[in-house]
Amino acid sequence: MIDKTTTIAELQQKAASFINERNWRQFHGAKNLSMAITLEAAELMEIFTWARDQKEAAQLVEEKKEAVKHELADIVFATLVFCDEFNIDLSEAIIEKIAHNAKKYPIEKAKGMNKKYNEL
Ligand SMILES: [Mg+2]
Repeated sequence: MIDKTTTIAELQQKAASFINERNWRQFHGAKNLSMAITLEAAELMEIFTWARDQKEAAQLVEEKKEAVKHELADIVFATLVFCDEFNIDLSEAIIEKIAHNAKKYPIEKAKGMNKKYNEL
């Protein structure tokens, strides 16, 4: 497990090096990168398209672990590149968003519920 020792900054640096070595920054506007994030998420979903229930989907995670890992990596990679391109501090964004969601979904109303905040 290198998650515990690898920082987002280190991953962002690796992604930036990969991009710079290929001179791909010229293709990385907000439109292109946001589409890339969505398309990679769709590739992850494609793996589970025909699963009949959560149990079958969980089995597919095990059977197709490499493909699942690769699509997750593609999503995060595109996200890191977007953040790098537009000077967005991803750690700060995640921390802010969790705090924002905690207000939208107070424990006393949201615990055990699968409804949207405006339906609680
Ligand atoms: Mg992919």
